[in-house]
Amino acid sequence: MTDTLDIVRTVQELRHRIRAWQGEGLRVGLVPTMGGLHDGHLALVKASLKNTDRTVATLFVNPKQFGPYEDFGEYPRDEDRDAKLFKEEGTHMLFAPDAAEMYPDGFSTSVSVAAIGDVLEGAFRPGFFTGVATIVTKLLVQAGADQAFFGEKDYQQLQVIKRLALDLNIPTDITGVPTVREDDGLALSSRNQYLTPAERNIAPVLYKTLCAAAEKIHQGNDIAVAEAWATEELLAAGFTHVDYVTARDGATLDAYTAPSQSGRVLAAAKLGKARLIDNVSL
Ligand code: AMP
Repeated sequence: MTDTLDIVRTVQELRHRIRAWQGEGLRVGLVPTMGGLHDGHLALVKASLKNTDRTVATLFVNPKQFGPYEDFGEYPRDEDRDAKLFKEEGTHMLFAPDAAEMYPDGFSTSVSVAAIGDVLEGAFRPGFFTGVATIVTKLLVQAGADQAFFGEKDYQQLQVIKRLALDLNIPTDITGVPTVREDDGLALSSRNQYLTPAERNIAPVLYKTLCAAAEKIHQGNDIAVAEAWATEELLAAGFTHVDYVTARDGATLDAYTAPSQSGRVLAAAKLGKARLIDNVSL
């Protein structure tokens, strides 16, 4: 083994390498990322290493999932650092294409997932899930991996990806990995670096409040009252705006109505320049 990670730049090379492994009877795991690596991403690599024989990570900051006023320009980019971290974790190969490889001239196709992709993040970030669904579909089709790993941190995204894989007969098994958190509960995110020290102190209130709201609902309190309580808690702690705090069905993200359903409490709230999202199970 050399100390540098094998990096491939073209879809053709990616396919060739993965097919060769599969031809030897090896199962291949895929870990899509936009870089800015932290232990949350590395948990996906660990899950892939545990469940498959070869792990391929991908690194591509996808312009199509950023809105016009979002942080595409500022998004952390350091391929050498990310490649080193992937390598240290045991990743076998990195696919790091450029934009022209992913979106050749004349690119005109998009994948959009209705209903589950229209609510919550889909409503607050128009076009976001179409950007995500399009790039993830491309990566799944390009790689033809046996299994692909996505974080529960982006819970709605995980459900959107499960839906598109099912709908489009993509045979890769889509696996969710639990959220990795700081000791104080804040979910790791590449965007946490936008927080000032004062905001960083407030940020863990999001997770604490979601846990408390889930507990209230679990105890039989009215759902709308628990959601409104959580919104007030976040604003009182210093969050500048709460986009939503809501209890939903864990698979469809429709309204949560009965304790027999698997449920999820999801939230998005702004803290200064950063917009934080998180979720907990019910
Ligand atoms: P990103 O690079 O932010 O697009 O994320 C790439 C993958 O890492 C997605 O599947 C995310 O859900 C996952 N991820 C991001 N943060 C975390 C976290 N704190 N815990 C687990 N997975 C995460």
